[in-house]
Amino acid sequence: MRQVPREMDGREVPMVTVHETLAVRVLLGSGARSAVPEEVARLSARRVFLVVTPSASAAGDELAGALGPLLGARFDRPAPHTPVAVTDAAMATAAGADCVVAVGGGSAIGLSKAIAARTGVPQIAVPTTYAGSEATPVLGETSDGVKTTRRDPALAPGVIVYDPDLTVTMPAGLTRTSALNALAHAVEALWAPNATPVTDALATEAVAGILQSLPEVLASPAETAPRARLQSASWLAALCLSQVRMGLHHQLAHVLGGTYGLPHAELHSLLLPHVLAFNLPHSETARTRLAHTIEPIRRLSQAYDGPTTLSALGVPYADLPSVAERVAASPYPNPRELTVPDVTALLEAAW
Ligand code: NAD
Repeated sequence: MRQVPREMDGREVPMVTVHETLAVRVLLGSGARSAVPEEVARLSARRVFLVVTPSASAAGDELAGALGPLLGARFDRPAPHTPVAVTDAAMATAAGADCVVAVGGGSAIGLSKAIAARTGVPQIAVPTTYAGSEATPVLGETSDGVKTTRRDPALAPGVIVYDPDLTVTMPAGLTRTSALNALAHAVEALWAPNATPVTDALATEAVAGILQSLPEVLASPAETAPRARLQSASWLAALCLSQVRMGLHHQLAHVLGGTYGLPHAELHSLLLPHVLAFNLPHSETARTRLAHTIEPIRRLSQAYDGPTTLSALGVPYADLPSVAERVAASPYPNPRELTVPDVTALLEAAW
């Protein structure tokens, strides 16, 4: 199939569309977590290594009880950005495991992927945020402050269990920023150089679903049905993230997050309206599908009761030009050319 070239400021665009999907079994629905022992049995696993995020310890206890003799060991200290030292500590207790089950956000699932990378064991991911790592073949690990990212289909969990009951404990702030983090995956998919008809469709549905369900969830945080809709829409966004190359938004999140150790979801959430306004005039596909979303996204981002500016996150104003220089020196594929003055102006607006 031939693809109409997108406007990429003179950069090469692929003329042949390639769409690759991962083999994955996905369970969705309230109470789906009770099927985890059956899923373990389907994998013929006999010794589960359970990774649990501290906030999900009740769900971890419940699952540990349900696994009974299938539980080999449990690790409760996953950390953001998958530090190798934490993985080493987990590996020391994972000996003999033939399956990893991770309950938690991107940090717990990152650790699960790191263990799978070292042992080759299959994974069952039970996400409790909207970050989307469970659906991607990407692992970012940090060692001595340096983050290295790799992509390999073998890293992606083969089973995902989306149980909205596990998301009702998310505080309002995390709900909002995590959902906007998911939204960013879908938004960037619409201007990606390797977008496909499938990712365009997934991204469009994901954006509509998140923008509709997030306000419902924020209004009734304990209700499961809106949480289920938000979780499903975030899954579609995660599928976009797994398929296409991310642009300026993710590059800024990586550079700023890595340099200043900033919280992942909050950073995504505050950057998104700025990047959207910056890029939209330069991508016809995204403009057609997203023009009406700029205002709702800006409102959702600004209404967060935590930091909504780079200054509030502690980024020094004087550093903004050097951040822009690093972005412009090796830009991620982006529909608008990334010059130092333009990116500095965007960062100043976000500051
Ligand atoms: P996280 O997993 O670090 O969780 C953030 C905080 O929220 C933690 O304190 C956690 O305990 C708490 N939490 C999680 N679920 C909760 C719930 N249901 N109720 C109450 N509290 C809850 O954060 P995250 O945003 O889910 O993930 C961020 C990490 O994931 C980063 O390291 C990021 O790089 C990585 N990530 C990787 C990919 C990928 O494709 N490789 C994709 C997205 C994110």
